[in-house]
Amino acid sequence: MTGHQTHIVIAGGGTAGWMAAALLSSFGQRGYRVTLVESEEIGTVGVGEATIPQINLYNQALGIDEDEFVRATQATYKLGIEFVDWSHLGSRYMHAFGDIGRDIGIVPFQHYWHRARQLGVADELGHYSLNEIAARDGRMQRGPLKTTDVVPAMPYAFHFDAMLYAAYLRRFAEERGVERIEGKIADVPLDGESGDVIALVLDDGRSIGGDLFIDCSGFRGLLIEGALATGYDDWSNYLPANRAMAVPCASGGAPNPYTRSTARMAGWQWRIPLQHRIGNGYVFCDAFTTHDEVRETLLANLDGEAQAEPRLLRFVTGRRRKCWNRNVVALGLASGFMEPLESTSIHLIQAGLSRLIKMLPEGRIPTAVIDEYNRQTALEYESIRDFLVLHYKATTRDDTPFWRHCAAMPIPDSLAHKIELFREAGHIFRTSDDLFTEVGWLQVLVGQGIEPAAHHPLADSVEPGDLASYMETWESLMRREAKQMPTHTQFLHSHGAAQTA
Ligand SMILES: Cc1cc2nc3c(=O)[nH]c(=O)nc-3n(C[C@H](O)[C@H](O)[C@H](O)COP(=O)(O)OP(=O)(O)OC[C@H]3O[C@@H](n4cnc5c(N)ncnc54)[C@H](O)[C@@H]3O)c2cc1C
Repeated sequence: MTGHQTHIVIAGGGTAGWMAAALLSSFGQRGYRVTLVESEEIGTVGVGEATIPQINLYNQALGIDEDEFVRATQATYKLGIEFVDWSHLGSRYMHAFGDIGRDIGIVPFQHYWHRARQLGVADELGHYSLNEIAARDGRMQRGPLKTTDVVPAMPYAFHFDAMLYAAYLRRFAEERGVERIEGKIADVPLDGESGDVIALVLDDGRSIGGDLFIDCSGFRGLLIEGALATGYDDWSNYLPANRAMAVPCASGGAPNPYTRSTARMAGWQWRIPLQHRIGNGYVFCDAFTTHDEVRETLLANLDGEAQAEPRLLRFVTGRRRKCWNRNVVALGLASGFMEPLESTSIHLIQAGLSRLIKMLPEGRIPTAVIDEYNRQTALEYESIRDFLVLHYKATTRDDTPFWRHCAAMPIPDSLAHKIELFREAGHIFRTSDDLFTEVGWLQVLVGQGIEPAAHHPLADSVEPGDLASYMETWESLMRREAKQMPTHTQFLHSHGAAQTA
């Protein structure tokens, strides 16, 4: 290649657009030019507030200072997600990040835990998770543990204000040479021969030509669907929720270092504590309730005064048939959407970006590259879908038509196999496409009330007394570590509380 600079044009400046711009600006200076087009008038979705620990990899790739980021985005720390009333009314469990107990040789901890439960010498699963113990106790620390070197460090993610995050990334990207163009995209012309997108044409007639286009235009999918008619796989048969009503409220005290998801009559309600407010929303299926009912439930279950009118968002769960089509890569809501039950959307943006950067073309885009990108993306989407469906399917709730529908609905074969394997033999195997670890699956399988019929025979070879003291040792090591941690509020004050908090 001689002197040609590949021009990457990003359509849209929500979380996806600015995450793409910031990462490309820090990686792609040589040989790449990045332009982002957004319309303030159209605005962003801006409700993505909870993340998973992989966000740290993205922030580290940018070289962001964590305390500065926490301050700029009014962030709090997140150690996991608590699920209330999901398995049955009155139930409560946590999907905490990080490990649980410790495997013995090649046999995973869950088999020993299962046997210990049968013998009556083990507590609930969460007692062997440092993240859960610390989360329930309202504590936070990062880095190596202070009292033990046999328990792995505590992974964490963040809750943050998505608008502030996008603004933060915008500053970062613009300082590194990304050009931002304000304007409304009115037309996306295609090359008559190749079918590739040639340019974004704005409503004032300006035309922004490019080589590679990243569609971050949100649910509209202006390029991937509007121009290229790629097609969409609708997964509402597995994940029936199709609306959310969101409202921020005043904080009601010290922020919990975890997200809460409470099952409701026709869906579930999120509670995401930030430094300056709490984000709340009710995700529901409109075939089983009314907007008025949802609004009433949402407003009746806030910790503090509502800070705005509840906002309704409509979505269709599923994914674009190809997230990379011709010279367009769709990221964020333009690529598909799965409800925020396990906070995976921002992660999917990040995963798509890192895949794109690994495969970044120069000049002609080989079909094999596009196919591989789409193959990997499809598998990742499907593995997340299965994990989300598990929460709904494995319920014993039958108190409303919505929950009866969920318990009876068909599920993907891939998930049916996973459930069967655990139910029959206590096994969980993670494939390379699985975002969630065995321990993540374990917590939700057990939390949703699925009991394995058996455990690995090697778990029977440990003497009951030894097993009891093994369980006791892990629990006390973790409790001792959690006890010396600062509270989450103290930690925030010393590591990035915003001025206004
Ligand atoms: C109810 C709900 C809750 C969520 N909660 C979470 C969560 O807790 N965690 C998580 O990880 N994710 C969550 N998400 C997902 C998260 O909000 C999105 O993944 C994220 O905000 C990315 O959005 P986006 O940038 O793709 O789209 P948007 O925010 O919609 O941005 C689209 C951009 O395109 C621009 N645009 C559109 N049309 C045009 C045009 N014609 N001309 C010019 N510009 C245009 C807009 O102006 C905007 O800048 C949630 C989503 C929903 C709906």
